[in-house]
Amino acid sequence: MKYCSNCGSKRLEFKVPKGDVHKRWVCNQCKMIHYSNPNIIAGCIPIWEDKIMLAKRSIGPKKGMWNLPAGFMENGETVSQGALREVREETLCEVDLGPLITIFSIPRARQVHMHFVGEMKDDKSFGNGIETSDVQLFLEEDIPWDDIAFETSKFTIRNYLEDRKKGEFKVHIGDLT
Ligand SMILES: [Zn+2]
Repeated sequence: MKYCSNCGSKRLEFKVPKGDVHKRWVCNQCKMIHYSNPNIIAGCIPIWEDKIMLAKRSIGPKKGMWNLPAGFMENGETVSQGALREVREETLCEVDLGPLITIFSIPRARQVHMHFVGEMKDDKSFGNGIETSDVQLFLEEDIPWDDIAFETSKFTIRNYLEDRKKGEFKVHIGDLT
């Protein structure tokens, strides 16, 4: 951090504020403490009958690879609303939210990913939304495992398929450390 985003001062110091236990950027001019904490990425595994919907990324990182629709939560929305919005924005698809299936931490990226099962309302109403160059439904045997963009998506798809065989969905907690 070079400037204080509150007052514009360069008098920033990385130190433990009084009464805290972690180092933070503190402005010695206006006394603002600049907290930095993990972001939540909300998304879905959209399902139609025995198929899973994946979106191909049209932007980096991992451009051209497949992924579950997901993205950063916005201020003022719940995690459910964020998941629904991301599916709508990336794949133009409306889903009914099913159970939460994934809580996946990536400490070095300062991220926590949350994925829900998303029941698609039909198998036709979807298309290329923002950041997306293709959207397709995949049977289990056709899932392009080597071309899936992120570990979180692989984790969610794998657990979804295993849970589906057992007939019971639960929350799976994972991480990339
Ligand atoms: Zn300041």
